[in-house]
Amino acid sequence: MGSMRADLHTHSRFSDGTQSPTELVAEAVDVGLDVFALTDHDTTIGWDEAVTAAQDRGIGLLRGMEVSCRWEGISVHILCYLHDPAGAEITAAIDQARSDRIVRSKIMVDRLSQDFAITWEEVEELAGADATIGRPHVADALVRAGIVRDRSEAFGRLLTGSGPYYVALPVISPVEAIRMIHDAGGAAVFAHPLASARGRVVPDAGLRTIIDAGLDGLEIDHRDNPPEGRARLRVLAAEYGLIVTGSSDYHGTGKPNLLGENTTARDQVEALVERTTGTEPIRFP
Ligand code: AMP
Ligand code: ZN
Ligand code: FE
Ligand code: FE
Repeated sequence: MGSMRADLHTHSRFSDGTQSPTELVAEAVDVGLDVFALTDHDTTIGWDEAVTAAQDRGIGLLRGMEVSCRWEGISVHILCYLHDPAGAEITAAIDQARSDRIVRSKIMVDRLSQDFAITWEEVEELAGADATIGRPHVADALVRAGIVRDRSEAFGRLLTGSGPYYVALPVISPVEAIRMIHDAGGAAVFAHPLASARGRVVPDAGLRTIIDAGLDGLEIDHRDNPPEGRARLRVLAAEYGLIVTGSSDYHGTGKPNLLGENTTARDQVEALVERTTGTEPIRFP
């Protein structure tokens, strides 16, 4: 088997990316990926469109999503691959997260609107139909109002978890998420475990507890994991026999991350697919 370029973490406009799944597929083909995974936050709404486009363009697709979780007050993202969306518990959990996101984002907009000229209606409009609403869309309203230059400045100055406008999202723990993902036949990978620029990260003891809950893999090659931390994660992955992934976390023009900037080795993609029974991969292996 030859080499393979696989990028297992991307977002479309159904969460906080800026492209349709069809546009994302076209770009994945352009940058020479053999396989990619669509992993919108807390939703599978983009799956059908992505499947059609991937089949049309002849690229491999893993259907996935990124599940919002919290571990002892720390925000954690668990990537879920190839689960069965008919799995009632995980689907109820992401649906709940999506509606809680609306409540929470409205409160943040309410607080921000005391100081800045933005409205909830604008945020909804900028997010577009059926998108999982989040701080990136609030950021877009701040950009449009000329208050910040881009999403990064909005996160740095106004939307940070330590700031006065921030409201936490009520979400499940990664341990529960892993169980629900497995019950639905999916595989669970800890996304950007050491992304400290976004806030506190889970300490090693917590990581080991989450691994013991049945975690399948660690997303190690991700731009938000610092180089010295990656070495430590590789030791942990070897110790527990975890799958190791590398991904871009591409958000279109919503973030500087470039599609295909990190990739996952073929044997790791195969191991991930092998652990799942919920949904078939498209054109893979
Ligand atoms: P939320 O889930 O609503 O709390 O928003 C967090 C999401 O915003 C993360 O999943 C990231 O994808 C995105 N995000 C975090 N930091 C930034 C940034 N600096 N620029 C653009 N998007 C970001
Ligand atoms: Zn995102
Ligand atoms: Fe994430
Ligand atoms: Fe992501």
